[in-house]
Amino acid sequence: MLVARSVTECHLYMALHPCAGCGEWDFPWSRHDRGPGPRSVYEGPCPSCGASRRFEFVIAPDAVPPPAYGGPEPSRIIDPGEFLAMSERAARHAAVPADASGPRRDDARTAASDALAAVEEVLKFVPPDASAVPASAFTSETGLARYAADPAAFTRERLQERIEACQQALLALTA
Ligand SMILES: [Zn+2]
Repeated sequence: MLVARSVTECHLYMALHPCAGCGEWDFPWSRHDRGPGPRSVYEGPCPSCGASRRFEFVIAPDAVPPPAYGGPEPSRIIDPGEFLAMSERAARHAAVPADASGPRRDDARTAASDALAAVEEVLKFVPPDASAVPASAFTSETGLARYAADPAAFTRERLQERIEACQQALLALTA
């Protein structure tokens, strides 16, 4: 069962899971059913191969409104490696030349804010008395590969440095 902490997290989960048949990432669902209760189901055909796709989530009782992914608890459906990879991708998109146009800067600001939100999610996986994300937190193929490539990226210290760098980048784009 996929327990999501927010609607934003449902959308991100779907964005991280391509079509099993053809590998298409895009999933413009044609049907979204809420309920009964906390159930949230997205359905529709894959735009590339036509296979019918379906995601069923249960929205946690303490769900948060967008754009947050969740409260203080770590995600149960997206692992810390996936969040860090996402943060790194967004941070690259946030890097713009000083003379970038207004719309490009707006895009960069959104990306910088996404990069910050995603790395904050990684930090939630560090237990209060620990100095790093435990290896057991990595459950996805992408996440496990990211962890294997550089386990030191998941220490509390490195994550906090990364959060500060993201905050600085966001500040520079907001000024
Ligand atoms: Zn497909």
